[in-house]
Amino acid sequence: MLAVDDTHCESGARCLSCGAMWAGDPRDCPSCGSRAVEAVDDVLEMALEEALEQGAALELVRSDGARRIMTGRGPMAALLRW
Ligand SMILES: [Zn+2]
Repeated sequence: MLAVDDTHCESGARCLSCGAMWAGDPRDCPSCGSRAVEAVDDVLEMALEEALEQGAALELVRSDGARRIMTGRGPMAALLRW
């Protein structure tokens, strides 16, 4: 099961080029350097929706961008343990 604290809401951004997501201010993509990014109100929810759409949460975990998001973040740690 994918256990995530769904009361947690974290604003962030998503890269329109490579799909990486991260918490914090929209800026150049930390994964591919693209400036084509969009602000996301709830990056955690977005990440989960993306994982469900892809039908593979592990794909999300493998990406460099997702790994950066999860580092040191409690709510996302559940994804790492999965
Ligand atoms: Zn990118």
